[in-house]
Parts: sequence; C-alpha cells; structure tokens
Amino acid sequence: MNANFQSNDLGEVIEADRAHLWHHLIQHKPFETIDPRIIVEGKGMRVWDATGKEHLDAVSGGVWTVNVGYGRESIADAVREQLVKMNYFANSAGSIPGSLFAKKLIEKMPGMSRVYYVNSGSEANEKAFKMIRQIAHKKYGGKKTKILYRHRDYHGSTLAAMSAGGQDERNAQYGPFAPDFVRVPHCLEYRKEELGLGHLSGADFGRAAADLIEEVILREGPETVGGLCLEPVTAGGGVITPPEGYWERVQEICEKYDILLHIDEVVCGVGRTGEWFGYQHYGIKPDFVTMAKGVASGYAAIACCVTTEKVFEMFKEDASDPMGYFRDISTFGGCTAGPAAALENMRIIEDEGLLENTTKMGERLLANLEALKAKHPVIGDVRGKGLFAGAELVADRETKQPLDEKLCQAVVADCMAQGVIIGVTNRSLPGFNNTLCFSPALICTAEDIDAITEAVDKALTKVI
Ligand code: PLP
Repeated sequence: MNANFQSNDLGEVIEADRAHLWHHLIQHKPFETIDPRIIVEGKGMRVWDATGKEHLDAVSGGVWTVNVGYGRESIADAVREQLVKMNYFANSAGSIPGSLFAKKLIEKMPGMSRVYYVNSGSEANEKAFKMIRQIAHKKYGGKKTKILYRHRDYHGSTLAAMSAGGQDERNAQYGPFAPDFVRVPHCLEYRKEELGLGHLSGADFGRAAADLIEEVILREGPETVGGLCLEPVTAGGGVITPPEGYWERVQEICEKYDILLHIDEVVCGVGRTGEWFGYQHYGIKPDFVTMAKGVASGYAAIACCVTTEKVFEMFKEDASDPMGYFRDISTFGGCTAGPAAALENMRIIEDEGLLENTTKMGERLLANLEALKAKHPVIGDVRGKGLFAGAELVADRETKQPLDEKLCQAVVADCMAQGVIIGVTNRSLPGFNNTLCFSPALICTAEDIDAITEAVDKALTKVI
C-alpha cells in the first residue's frame, strides 16, 4: 500500500462517503451501521481497501473492466502527456489520439470502418439505436423502426438502453420505456425447457433458438424491424455462451429480412474472450459494434460505436438533405484522454501476448470450475469463453430450481472474507438465475486462477 496514505486520513474519507456519496446499485441502509467499502489502491491483479486488507480481484474492477490490471504507469503517462498537450476540443474536430486509436481499432475489426466516440456503454448503444432509427427514416420511409433485443441481455442504464433491457428486475419501477423495442427469447441451453426446446441439443438446439428470433420478426412484420441488438456472450444475464449453430442462423435471419445487426461488446470487447472481440469467435458480420469497459481498462472513460462503411455512407450520400447526417453530439466523447489511454491499453495487450494468455488461463478457469461442479452439486452449470466464466447455482440439479439469493450472497461474502472478490448475477425474480461470475484481468497467472477457485471451493463447502 502507498506509504503516503495514512490510516488517520480514512476517518474523513469514510465520513464523507457516508454523508455524501450515493453508490451504484446498492441499498444504503447497512452503511448506517457498517463502513462502506473504499478501494484505495491497486497493483496488477490486486486491490487494497481502506482497512489495508488485500484482495485478489477476480472481476476486473467489479464489472469486467480493468483488462490489463491495476497500476499501469505507461497508461497514466500516456494520458498525462496528452492532457498537458491538448485535453479537449469538441469532436466535430479531430484529435491525434482520436484518429490513431480509431485506425488501430479498425485494424482489429476487418469489415468495420468508422468509430464514433462516446463515454459509456449505454451511450454507445444509444448511438447505434439512433443510427438504426435514422436509417429507418432515411431509407425505409419511417418503417423499420423496431429494434429487437434478447431476454437476459443488458445494454445499459439510460432509458432507451433500458427499453432494450432483457432483465426485468432491473427495469421494474423505471417505466414506461421507449416504444418499438421488442424482446426475443434467450438462448441458454441449460434452461432450454423455458423455450419449449427441451427435446433438442447441440446445433439443433442452437438453430431452433435462433429460429425463435425469426418467429418474432414474422409476428411483428419484417418490414417494421430495423435492428437486432445482441451480446455475443451474455454477461450480467448469467454468462450465457451461445449454443452451436446459433450465430450462423442469426446472421442468415438478419440478411433474409434486411435487419441491421448490432453487437454489444461492452463486456466482451478488447480481449476478454481471447479474441479482440467476442463476435470474432462466431464468424459474425456486424453492422454495428459497441464497446466500453475494457477499451481503456478504466484508466479513462471511453466508449465507441463502430460501424461499417456501408452504414456510414448512408449518412453522407445526400449532402443536400439538411437533416441527412447524424445530428448527434457527446460533449466528452471528444476527450483525448480516452483514446490516448486506449492506444496504450491495446499496445500492452499486443506486446504482452494477453489474448493468448486469456485463452490459456480461460481454459484453466473453466476446467477448475468443472472440477468444482463435480464436487459440489449446488453448481448446476458452468459456462464461459476466455477469462469470462460463470457457475450457475441451483438448489436442486433435477428441477434446476435457482439457489436462494441469500446463499449466493453468502458464497460471495465468504470469498471476500478470504480476500478474493468474485461476482454474482443474483436476482430471485422469475426467469432469472444465480450465477457466480469470474472475469479476472487478462494478465492473471495459473496461481491466480487456482487461488480464485480454491476460495470458491472453501466458500461452497462452508456455506452450502
Ligand atoms: N452493455 C453491456 C453488455 C453491459 O454489461 C453494460 C454494463 O454493464 C452496458 C452495456 C452499459 O455500460 P455502461 O455502464 O458503461 O453504460
């Protein structure tokens, strides 16, 4: 821990937190009696909290973000150098790191062409939705405004992103939502009975799960559907890896009905699954790719909505139409700190061979979780791609009844007490299940992976 940070500073920090901070996604009542958790420092795979306790971080900053690990001086240096030279000018003008990162990013995304900078995953998705809507007006006379999204996927916290939100418990009490967002069924093979596809497996199941999307398109009318927004591997909805055959069929369906395919890579993007982007495992040809978290590993706020040249062309083909270009702005989407950090983040991933490490360590993580499944009947299913894995907890393997939410929380708390931070997608509402989540930084070692799964093993033995 940093020697300059004296423990007697902490009283003021904790009081200020208690008096003035509104933390994300949690109930604040407990902080009346216990101290809020304050993370003070990080280095590599580890963080230290305000009590001085060391934690092995198995969730990359809590939400799949710090892909290259903590304490990267070269990223801090790149950001500092850039900020001193030129911190900000609106993005109707270009910037040196903005152009260079766009070029480097597109090199990793064959078939894609244009990068639109914003600040968050939600905002990146909103931009894609707006582009799809504008294309519906420009090209289809105001038809094709419907955007399909999938049950259990998540696309952000703003109202239009929530309108495309596949997790009901997140949306409850925040409606009404934007019109013309239409839900399609999930593709989780472990819960295929919910889809009426319990009799199918493997690629037969995958294709049939995709056919459920086509059913929705036919029900709505293909002439009304402009876009389909999907996560390549569903993250917060329970780490759902796509079944075999699914994506090929999805691609066919989009082509058949002239539907723009928007892939939300906010979690999977920039290395998390062992490829630069999750969609690249499945031969997908997207029209839009959105990304955020790992783009600069949390060293600066940056998100991108990336499109093909074909999409871009539609916004400049008729220069005489005063409404024809993308009339949109994002004040901080032009900040230079973001692409400066993102360039160095990408260099680190390349030079340190982190995609290869992700594939290798991801295999180890999955193998360890499978071993835990063999030992602990409470683990019903193990899923994952690269350093992005989940273990779904059930009260009963036969009925697949989700494990009580409090027990899931107790497993996470026990790991935390052991000094390992893991995550859980736990909501006890119908249609949602409890999945322990693991997404260590791409720099993790075999020892880190083993320490993570050993902690889970101990926690399950103790709690269940
Ligand atoms: N898309 C996915 C798949 C996400 O998991 C998230 C956030 O967790 C978002 C979009 C929203 O990103 P942000 O919180 O940066 O707005």
